[in-house]
Amino acid sequence: LRLILLFVTILLIVVSAGKTPSSTLTEEQRERVKEIEKEIERLKLGKKTHPRAYVKGIRYYTSGEYARVVLDVTRLSEYRVKEDGAGVRVILPSARSLLRGKDATIREKKGFLREVRALSSGESLEVRIALASRGRVKSFTLPDPPRIVLDFYPVEEKGKGREGVVTRRKFDKNPGKVVVVLDPGHGGRDPGAVGRYGTKEKWVTLKIARKLKGLLQKDGRFSVVLTRERDVYLSLEKRAAIANAAKADMFISIHTNASRRRWARGVSTYLLGRKATDRDALELAMRENGEMAKEGGISTILLDLLNYGKERESLRLAKSINDSLYGAVKRRSRRTRNLGVKRAPFYVLFGSSMPAVLVEVCFITNPTEEKLLRRDSFITSVARAIYGGIVEYVEKTRTALYEAGR
Ligand SMILES: [Zn+2]
Repeated sequence: LRLILLFVTILLIVVSAGKTPSSTLTEEQRERVKEIEKEIERLKLGKKTHPRAYVKGIRYYTSGEYARVVLDVTRLSEYRVKEDGAGVRVILPSARSLLRGKDATIREKKGFLREVRALSSGESLEVRIALASRGRVKSFTLPDPPRIVLDFYPVEEKGKGREGVVTRRKFDKNPGKVVVVLDPGHGGRDPGAVGRYGTKEKWVTLKIARKLKGLLQKDGRFSVVLTRERDVYLSLEKRAAIANAAKADMFISIHTNASRRRWARGVSTYLLGRKATDRDALELAMRENGEMAKEGGISTILLDLLNYGKERESLRLAKSINDSLYGAVKRRSRRTRNLGVKRAPFYVLFGSSMPAVLVEVCFITNPTEEKLLRRDSFITSVARAIYGGIVEYVEKTRTALYEAGR
């Protein structure tokens, strides 16, 4: 069938070329004809060929001491990362770039990321990344849509440690404060789950986050960053990038649960795990990751890269928040359930370098819980409960965030 399709394509090109002088074929069209001819040769030889991977977009986020580069690709293929002085080279064998001119190069004057360039060299594609100083890199891939995510952190020069601390204390915007990044789920064109009375998850999560921000700021010990302050769309990989850039001490993504079973109800809190705790956890993660997510799509990701080894702290934070939240919801709705702390592969938590959890406040698809979520007094109780969980976690943290100068 592929042979026939290719043959038809060739015919069409030949026919269209026949109508006009062949000299009017553009350079690109001639290249395409050559590629198709090569492809036919390969098929004749019986070699198995995978469809070629193309890089179709480069996105990036940078702050003074952190950068994230996302390569949008047509399909996931093998790639190698090489650290090279104050730069990193990402090599994608047999991949091609669809980027032309300005799109293929990014230049920044400020920030840790200085330059990104996509260059074709022979059969492979090379993405060269220049940093302000020597950096270490961590990378992982996400499917649906396929993308390669690269995180960059500066390498601390030996002997400069003390000076670094002093400098940071002097210039840190929030010396001695615990930095909390709150992530109201969904937003903009992504409403999240919608209840029977039309309540949209994106509004509930934003209301809770705003209220919680107020409580944490009033406390005085916290510095709070919201990934979104308004009803805007934000990619999942940008949310964790904001937390990494803010050097957050914790990352809390706020959501409401949903189920096809309208009687499903209760409170649960998640941390990252490659394998989901149960069927419900997996279905939930797939929904939160986007409709296109398929089971098994993330098998190539190394476990230690998921949350860069903050599992134990994430578990403590999740337990603390979940207990506090369940207590508060139960006071308002006696029939609610404690679904507990679970694990699932939530993309929004991938690559976060601090304790990170995802809270599923209630079921927006349960009419009783939806009615509660529409009430401002309930939103306040939920925010207070999460605040209580955060405070308990911080006060019990042995590593003593305050004493460490954070
Ligand atoms: Zn959600």
